[in-house]
Amino acid sequence: MSAALITGASRGIGAGCALAFAREGYAVGINHRSSGEDAERIAQHCRELGVEADVFAADVADADQARGMVERFVERFGRIDVLVNNAGGALRMPPGGFVDMPTDYWDSQIALNLSAATYGSQAAARAMIAQNVAGAIINISSIHGDVTWVRRKALPYSAAKAGLNMLTKSLGVELIAHGINVNCIAPGLIHTKALDRYSERDLNGFNRKIPFGGGGEPADIAELAIFLADKSKSRFIVGQTITVDGGQSIDGSIDAMLDDAY
Ligand code: NAP
Repeated sequence: MSAALITGASRGIGAGCALAFAREGYAVGINHRSSGEDAERIAQHCRELGVEADVFAADVADADQARGMVERFVERFGRIDVLVNNAGGALRMPPGGFVDMPTDYWDSQIALNLSAATYGSQAAARAMIAQNVAGAIINISSIHGDVTWVRRKALPYSAAKAGLNMLTKSLGVELIAHGINVNCIAPGLIHTKALDRYSERDLNGFNRKIPFGGGGEPADIAELAIFLADKSKSRFIVGQTITVDGGQSIDGSIDAMLDDAY
């Protein structure tokens, strides 16, 4: 049985990916940092779909924990075919502008949204190469890896996601020599708990301005992750970042959204 490890899978896009891989028949690893009960609930849901599933607690922004998580996963399932580097998120910058930015805010956002994928991918690639597994690594970036998010003061998040897009290109080129495909998905607004911080008024405003007619659902991202993991369909896609955003990033709506909200 093929095995997929999804980081940050206790809810949101990660949980959507875990369930989608389970439906495809993969054994699934559900990583979380602090939401153990939610992660166990997703694991149980996967088991009910007829596959093996387990929870792997680890703060993936910590190099040792991220690598240890992958090693425990390989011990548990005997192999790793797919790693989805999904854990991430934007924290609102502390008061003040860039010139006042605390160093630990920058460091923590880069660690979560860029370094975590580097640590996990390194451990996964080592295991895949050692076992001659032509696997897939899928990074979850953001449209803000390509367009700024300055009004939200999410400069470190944008910079990290841009770095993740370039990590994807570089790893894509290096690891395809081992048959490992590395690609990236850049979501626009997706309805998850990460949006709880916005008022209903703001969310309605966001949704109205997305050309599709509203934000997406975790399944919209998960379906592309399944496609990218399926080498019979995606083997010639290498090092790409694919935007999934209902047209949000291509008609200037982001600026308009932020003008309304901030
Ligand atoms: P979410 O609902 O806030 O869920 C985040 C998940 O990541 C949770 O399972 C959380 O578990 C886990 N997590 C956070 N920090 C972690 C850490 N250090 N180590 C391990 N797990 C950690 O987020 P989401 O909206 O699904 O977003 C998922 C990804 O999509 C992120 O990379 C985000 O940047 C990207 N994205 C989201 C949107 C959107 O509109 N939702 C748009 C663009 C990009 P714990 O609670 O246990 O920490």
